[in-house]
Amino acid sequence: MDKRGEKEGGEEMKACKDCGMVVSSKTDICPNCKTSRLSDEWHGLVIIIKPKKSIIAEKLMIKTRGKYALKVR
Ligand SMILES: [Zn+2]
Repeated sequence: MDKRGEKEGGEEMKACKDCGMVVSSKTDICPNCKTSRLSDEWHGLVIIIKPKKSIIAEKLMIKTRGKYALKVR
C-alpha cells in the first residue's frame, strides 16, 4: 500500500519573513534561510519547481525549489 503525501487542505501554513518560503505551522525554523521569523499572515502561494527556468522565481529572487508566499506580513 502506498503512503500518500501529507494533506495540505485545512493545514495551517506559515511563511518565512525573510525569504517567503511556506512551511508547515509545526516548523519553527525556515529550512531555506534558517531564520525563526515565520509569520502566519501571508498571501499568494507560489510553487517553484525549476527556479532557473521560472520567471516568477527570478522576480522573487528564489533560487531553491519549494513553496513561497508572494506577500508576508
Ligand atoms: Zn526563509
